[in-house]
This record gives sequence, C-alpha cells and structure tokens, in this order.
Amino acid sequence: MRITRIKLQELKILFTSALLAVLLFALLLCTPTPLRPQAPRTAPSDPVIAVNNPPNTPAQQSKHYVILVSLDAFRYDYAQKDGAKNILDLEARGATAPDGMIPAYPSLTFPNHYTIVTGLYPEHTGIVANKFYDPARQATYSMSDASAKLDGSWYGGVPLWSLAEQQGMRAASFFWPGDDAEIAGQRPSYYLHFDDKFPDEQRVDQVIAWLKLPPELRPHFITLYYSNVDHAGHDFGPDTTQTADAVRHVDDMIGRLIEGLKPLNLPVDVIVVADHGMILGQGDWIDLDSYTDLSNFTTAGSLLYAKSDADAETAFNQLKGKSDKFQVFRRKDVPPYLHYDSNARIGDPVVIPTGPYYIRASAPPAGRPEYKKEIGVHGFDPYNIKEMHALFVAEGPDIRPGVTVPPFDNVDLYPLIAKILGLQIGPIDGRLEVLQGILQPSPPAAP
Ligand SMILES: [Zn+2]
Repeated sequence: MRITRIKLQELKILFTSALLAVLLFALLLCTPTPLRPQAPRTAPSDPVIAVNNPPNTPAQQSKHYVILVSLDAFRYDYAQKDGAKNILDLEARGATAPDGMIPAYPSLTFPNHYTIVTGLYPEHTGIVANKFYDPARQATYSMSDASAKLDGSWYGGVPLWSLAEQQGMRAASFFWPGDDAEIAGQRPSYYLHFDDKFPDEQRVDQVIAWLKLPPELRPHFITLYYSNVDHAGHDFGPDTTQTADAVRHVDDMIGRLIEGLKPLNLPVDVIVVADHGMILGQGDWIDLDSYTDLSNFTTAGSLLYAKSDADAETAFNQLKGKSDKFQVFRRKDVPPYLHYDSNARIGDPVVIPTGPYYIRASAPPAGRPEYKKEIGVHGFDPYNIKEMHALFVAEGPDIRPGVTVPPFDNVDLYPLIAKILGLQIGPIDGRLEVLQGILQPSPPAAP
C-alpha cells in the first residue's frame, strides 16, 4: 500500500511538472521572438548613419531641395489604372510622362537605380545587371552579396549624393542601390543599410525629420525607396488586385510625404519615378546550354563569359536562329539603341530576349531544386516592350504645372536634378535639353 501511495504522489508531481512545462511552452509560443518584431520599430533615427561631412556652404543653403522617390516596378500606367490619387494629383500639378520613362537595358533594379542617379547607361556605370561577372577582376558582383554591394570600386560615375557632397551640399538617402558604398570619394551625409522590412510610414517621417534640421545640416538632395509594388508584381502579376493594393499603399506614402512637406514651407521639388515596369511572364525556362556547350563558360543568369574569343564565336553561331524567343549578338554588334556593347562585364555573346521569357544559361545542377518562376517579370528591351516603361512625375517650385513629355531615357533625369540644385556636372550620357522644357523659365528665388 505504501509503495502505491508514493507512486501516486510521484505521478501527481510528474503530472504537475508536465502541466507547467506545457504552460511555459505555450507562453513562449505566444511571445514574439526578437527576430520578428510585431510592434513598430523604435525611433526611426536609430538606424540612420550620419557621416561627418562638412556642413552646407552658405551658397548651398539658399538652394532648393529635391526629393527623388523610387517606387520599384511602378509601371507607367499603374497610377491611372489602379487609382493612385496622390500621384495623379502630383501629375495634375506638375509634369509627367503619360507613356512613361524608358529604363536602361536591362530593365532591372540595380542597373536602373544606379543609372538614374549617375546619368550614365549601365555599360558606363559598370552595374550592367543585378548579378554579373568581371573578367578583369575575376570576381562576381551580386546585389545579394553585401561585401560586393558595399565595395565602391564596383561603381562608376558620380552619384547625385556624391556630386552634392563634393560641392558642399549635404545629401541623404533612405535606401537606394549604391548609397552605402563610398563612391567618387563620398557617401551621403545620412544613409541607412538596406532593410526591406523598415516600416513604410517611418521612412517618410525620417525624410521630413531631415528637412527639419538646421540649414547648415539639412540635406538638399534626398532619395526615398519602396519595393512593395515590385514584390506584388512578381508574386501575383502586374494586373491583379494585390498589385493594385500595393500601388495604393505606396501612393498613401506619397500622400504622407506631401502632407509632411506642407508645414515646412521649403522650396522642395518632389520627383517620383520607378526603375522599370512589369509584365506577365510567358512559357517555361529556356536553357541556353541546351543549344550550345557552356561548360567552359562563366555564367550569371543569362550572361555568358567565354574563356576565349573562339569559344564566344562558337556559342554565338550555335545560339543564332535557334529560337524566336531570343536574339544573340557578338557584344560589339548589339544594336546601338540598347547601349549595351562596351563593357566586358556584359559578357560575349549577348542574348537579348524578344519577349517576357525565362531565359538562363542553364538549369540548376542535378539534385538541386528548380528555381521559382516569378509570375510578373522585367528586365526586357524597353524599346520593344512598353510594359517596361516606368512612372515619372515631378512637382514643385521649379516645375511647370500641367506639362507632359514623351517617353525619355532615364539618364536624362540627372542633368535635370543637377540643374535644379545648381550643381556642376561632368560628362554623362544624359542630356539636359530633353527635360529642360518642364522647368520653370526662371525658377523662383528661395525664401
Ligand atoms: Zn523586380
């Protein structure tokens, strides 16, 4: 009997401990883990990196301000189609390109963001794709490789923030490809390391906070970036309710920005652009190595780097005319309108898709999972595929109201922004005369 009683007590203890353990475990499950914070992050200024650049010179303090906003993959027709009322308001009050701004080829995120802030085509900035190989360096750049991304020696040209800082004008960047690398000897006075999860509203609030700094510390050129529309376009396709919702969400951020600027009473021009558009992908993967032996090549996506000119010529001949889904050129023969023939990082031969097709050098190695095929895609020839055209709208004291312009190359933005800010520029691909007509004939003097 005694033994039984002890056993009963032990069972009770065991049962109680087990119950406690289960309760404790349940409690742990309900507690948010530190990796995925549920609450909004703390003070938005925390992650901002402040660089000890000189203050604005007295001459620069009297200049106007430019906020350059990028809404990644916001196609030229989205505002109208999906009812982006704040952007439509900006268009009515300012200048816009109803048929869009033309991205540089390839119509991808990193080449185009960096082209917009340098006025140089990708073949001249060196950022010729999101991922590419450099035969001279014998190294690969990838937008997902943090150490390459931070290494300024990959980037050519003088980004607008560096141009401003060089001339005694402060700049700030709330995310933009290249902004956290030292380029042309400079970094923006204020920047952050990219964090796609950074709360959207707080990005706007930080931009407004920068404009409330004392005049000597206040940035005159500011970039701001949102990826929401790109993600929705890839995951669901460009003409879906999900993408329309993302369009209206980033439009709300534009509305928040415009409202936040009003009480500041500063001469701010707001320029809202996209890096490229989006189109529904078609068909299955096209593996270039099913037409020609690429085992002796270095590859990155559909870019091909031959070990020798003879290898390049062989691959060119074997790929030529094999499919109506792509064209192939020796690099020197790529059509000049694409501005994609002068940099060894482009590879050789060069494969140009003729439509929204999934083209790559090869399938994943045996035993590795197949890559995810995104529903919406971009990267294609923007002169032949209009869906690659991007949003452009500009509004502010330097912009003539109610002006529309025909499609223009995004390299032409750089001289426009430099003109508004009164910055001297070196040789670039962009031309001021293309967009000069949207500027007020004699910009109002700063208060
Ligand atoms: Zn994208």
